[in-house]
Amino acid sequence: MIGTGKVVELHYVLTDAKGKVLDRADKDAPFSYLHGGQQIVPGLESALIGLKVGDKKKVVVPPADGYGDVSNELRIEVKRSQFPPTAELQQGMQFQANGPEGQGMVFTVSKVEGDTVHIDGNHPLAGETLHFDVEVTAVRDATDEEKEHGHAHGPDGHGHHH
Ligand code: ZN
Repeated sequence: MIGTGKVVELHYVLTDAKGKVLDRADKDAPFSYLHGGQQIVPGLESALIGLKVGDKKKVVVPPADGYGDVSNELRIEVKRSQFPPTAELQQGMQFQANGPEGQGMVFTVSKVEGDTVHIDGNHPLAGETLHFDVEVTAVRDATDEEKEHGHAHGPDGHGHHH
């Protein structure tokens, strides 16, 4: 049964409020995570507690329990000169930088206007209500190493990549 300290394998389809598919994990590439490791959005994690292998569930996650609301404070204008001269800035390009509170964040370049670069630190799915259609395909105890790392490793224990 799904709960803290379990490694869970899922198939899922994630759609937005209009039914557009945003992400999916099918039989040939299931998704696994460590429950309680904050690897998935909180609204989905809490909805999966108590499910077992073979269970299917539709879960609707509001932005507050998903990727958060869109914050205008994270839409920032910076000068072209703040980037390395060799960086080719293009709309949609992503890079890591420190957010307003010094935390590491991913920003996306939303527009380049002459010497001004508009960047956006919101998650691409911020403000979206997430519709998950989930099937649980495996549940097992996490290994000590997984608990220590705070994430799931591959089925053979060698899927370590970070
Ligand atoms: Zn690890």
